[in-house]
Amino acid sequence: MARELGRGEDLFRTLQGRVASRRQGGLIVRNLVFVLGDQLTRSLASLRDIDPARDRILMAEVAQETRYVRHHKQKIALILSAMRAFAAELRAEGLTVDYVRLDDPDNTGSFPGEMLRAARRLRPERIVVTEPGEWRVREALGDGAREGGAPLEFRDDDRFFASRARFARWAEGRKSFRMEFFYREMRRETGLLMQGDAPVGGAWNYDAENRKTPPKGHVLPPPPRFAPDAATREVLDLVAARFADHFGDLEPFGWAVTRADALKALAHFLARNLAHFGDYQDAMLRGEEFLHHAAISPYLNIGLLTPREVCRAAEQAYEQGRAPLNAVEGFIRQILGWREYVRGLYWLRMPGYARSNALRANRPLPDFYWSGETDMLCVAEAVGQTRRHAYAHHIQRLMVTGNFALLAGLDPAEVEEWYLAVYADAFEWVELPNTHGMALFADGGLLASKPYAASGAYIDRMSDYCGRCRYDVKAKSGEGACPFNPLYWNFLIENRDRLAGNPRMAMPYRSLAAMSEARRAEIVADARAALTRLGVRL
Ligand SMILES: Cc1cc2nc3c(=O)[nH]c(=O)nc-3n(C[C@H](O)[C@H](O)[C@H](O)COP(=O)(O)OP(=O)(O)OC[C@H]3O[C@@H](n4cnc5c(N)ncnc54)[C@H](O)[C@@H]3O)c2cc1C
Ligand code: SF4
Repeated sequence: MARELGRGEDLFRTLQGRVASRRQGGLIVRNLVFVLGDQLTRSLASLRDIDPARDRILMAEVAQETRYVRHHKQKIALILSAMRAFAAELRAEGLTVDYVRLDDPDNTGSFPGEMLRAARRLRPERIVVTEPGEWRVREALGDGAREGGAPLEFRDDDRFFASRARFARWAEGRKSFRMEFFYREMRRETGLLMQGDAPVGGAWNYDAENRKTPPKGHVLPPPPRFAPDAATREVLDLVAARFADHFGDLEPFGWAVTRADALKALAHFLARNLAHFGDYQDAMLRGEEFLHHAAISPYLNIGLLTPREVCRAAEQAYEQGRAPLNAVEGFIRQILGWREYVRGLYWLRMPGYARSNALRANRPLPDFYWSGETDMLCVAEAVGQTRRHAYAHHIQRLMVTGNFALLAGLDPAEVEEWYLAVYADAFEWVELPNTHGMALFADGGLLASKPYAASGAYIDRMSDYCGRCRYDVKAKSGEGACPFNPLYWNFLIENRDRLAGNPRMAMPYRSLAAMSEARRAEIVADARAALTRLGVRL
């Protein structure tokens, strides 16, 4: 039977006392299954053995999760709307869901608070939770359980290909954790794109073929958009009223909030984009936010799609001749490789991982990260589309906003908070390693063998931005020079002690050494002037 907890009902329960609250259809509640907002998967470990007669499901919209960073409005709307739709689907199956809305006056505002409140009300034999994705939530639930209620059972989140224990086994004894080697093991283990023991096509990785820019006239399909239904409209109104001070535009809102629509988004990608995914994976075009990217990370991260079904579908597209190997391998590597790897690394190294600051970067995040108001066209494009869609693709995140933050020496904690807030797909387990490790090198090289630092020339090669920018990408110094140019060399100078010994940095440091002392001093002065003009406090 469908259940919605309102204030009156909750009070009634309390007054009815223990017997009424313990019984459901004459039986004592066996499992209270607490489903979190990023666990919207019917085959979730904690939902797999659910017994409609004896078990209860708890879902809660809690203020703490909506406010711990100033999440993009679309991100909040997506998660709340998808949670409500998922609860409705479970109820339609005959399962009992106690659903606590954000504006429920009895809502305690936190996961442990809601878990304990439900446990006191229902007195279940045990509480069952699929392990949370984020360390912070895992700790809070563990602490909450120690306060009483009922025994708490965490189950492995086997929506991932590799369990945390599996990743730890792989990492054990290794000096460096290179994704490529982990990925190969995952290929062998899953059989994805494998022919016996060998990779299909003879190579593990076709990245060398994946750095093209689209030719003039190349046609890009419009991304799939899903018009909000009445239930999503209600959530949009709630978000507009409660989160007006948060980052980003709420509307137009076009994200899928149900599995059925997320599957349509996946089908659209497979039919219209996958074949070009590899070739143009690193390209950036003005006004083209999605290019041939899938834009499915929010669906994967909240559970509307599973990594297995997405990878199998891409593999099938290759087997049926609908997409070339370089595209399909590149795509599968992002999910089977990078996504699994960053999650493994996160759990292996938390909570200490977030605290390192290998390059001792400490400058505050400038305002243009929030406003998008800057003459640097590449940054304005990335931030502008992030405001409009809660989305930017990987190279924009890494080589534009990430690269600027790295070169400018911005404080990792402030940069990480920004990335966690502004993207619809941002959850700490995936955001943190990507930002802290990949973009900022703040982990000192655990994730990346060298910093992803680049001057304006890289952005010019991979985009059509520079031709229309107020800055001159070819100029090396002076007020009109692309800020990425002096900042790149200044970054090498500022971090010489920490990076010059890295064999993969040998070439740029040789070029730096070949410069005169006067030229190096000029670079430092230019970089400082550029930062000041851009509003970065030195
Ligand atoms: C600084 C920075 C912060 C990031 N923060 C997040 C984040 O909070 N959440 C998030 O899901 N991704 C994050 N990424 C990774 C990546 O940028 C996004 O997954 C990707 O842009 C999502 O868009 P898409 O679905 O169109 O991806 P596509 O390019 O179409 O790739 C397909 C899928 O592969 C997975 N994927 C690709 N690259 C990565 C990666 N590096 N790590 C993990 N999964 C990957 C995603 O699930 C993605 O949906 C970040 C990257 C950087 C550099
Ligand atoms: S010139 Fe520099 S700032 Fe302008 S778009 Fe190119 S890389 Fe960005």
